Amino acid sequence: MILAVSKLKNPSSQPVGYRGRFAPSPTGPLHAGSLVAALGSWLDAQKNGGKWLLRIEDLDVPRTIPGAAQQIQSQLVACGLSWDEELTWQSKRQEGYQAALERLNTLQLIYPCTCSRQMIANTLAERGIQTPRNQEMVYPGTCRPEQLKTYSKEELNSTKAAWRIALPKNCEIVFEDLALGKQSENLNPEVGDFVLKRNDGLFTYQLAVVVDDALQGITHIVRGEDLLSNTGRQIYLQHVLGMNTPQYRHLPLVLDEHGEKLSKQTLATPIQTETSKDALTELRKAAKHLGLRDLPNSENITIAQWLHAATLAWGK
Ligand code: GLU
Ligand code: ZN
Repeated sequence: MILAVSKLKNPSSQPVGYRGRFAPSPTGPLHAGSLVAALGSWLDAQKNGGKWLLRIEDLDVPRTIPGAAQQIQSQLVACGLSWDEELTWQSKRQEGYQAALERLNTLQLIYPCTCSRQMIANTLAERGIQTPRNQEMVYPGTCRPEQLKTYSKEELNSTKAAWRIALPKNCEIVFEDLALGKQSENLNPEVGDFVLKRNDGLFTYQLAVVVDDALQGITHIVRGEDLLSNTGRQIYLQHVLGMNTPQYRHLPLVLDEHGEKLSKQTLATPIQTETSKDALTELRKAAKHLGLRDLPNSENITIAQWLHAATLAWGK
């Protein structure tokens, strides 16, 4: 199947107001790269007279760092990036993810997988497929049943297996990225049947982000380019779950001196927001990275004034 998303589906003819979001994982404080995503998504929402929501993606409990979510909020506040509505936590939204999994089970679109990473690596090696370090392995379909079916509740809640989506043949996703233009990804050779719920009982980012973006009525997703390769999977899930597909805009990544993406895992330096002068310096760096030009560079400007100027400059 080829799934081409040409425009935002809006089944009711009501005009939908812009709803954006920033969805950090609390695996550490904000660094220069995550501030770029926060600022870019905030400016895009302001420019469009929209709402900007904050969602803490604390789904992967083992990777969550205590205090990081609080620190992220304080850093955003110090930078003047205030959010609308109540902050949400993915760790409190298990029922929503479970309901989506049950829906996919009813549609006979999932199956259990008991492969270990090593088994998957061995199968791929036998087929002569090498996975570069840092890249996810393409699932070779080992556990996929000949005939898909609906599993019982007990089977579905069994903790022994991971649950994967069964992709149709040639699942090619085509969409228009607002920054990068036309994108296309064939999910079969690029990811394979991907995991929705892990065998330790945790729902995956792919499922949770789609369920939450739909629940929160998100119309625009502005985030780092490192997440571009997840977009095809997310659009496919939106399609099978009957959800609207938001507009996507992927922002350029901030790289370190070795040309690697800054990340909390590589212990990128947190942004400095102790004083408003520090915060403004960080905002200016992020804006420069986003390609914003001719912003006021006076020492005496307030953060609010600077953000106002940046909003006017955004998208020009
Ligand atoms: N939680 C994800 C991250 O911090 C971002 C999710 C998203 O923006 O879709 O990498
Ligand atoms: Zn398997």
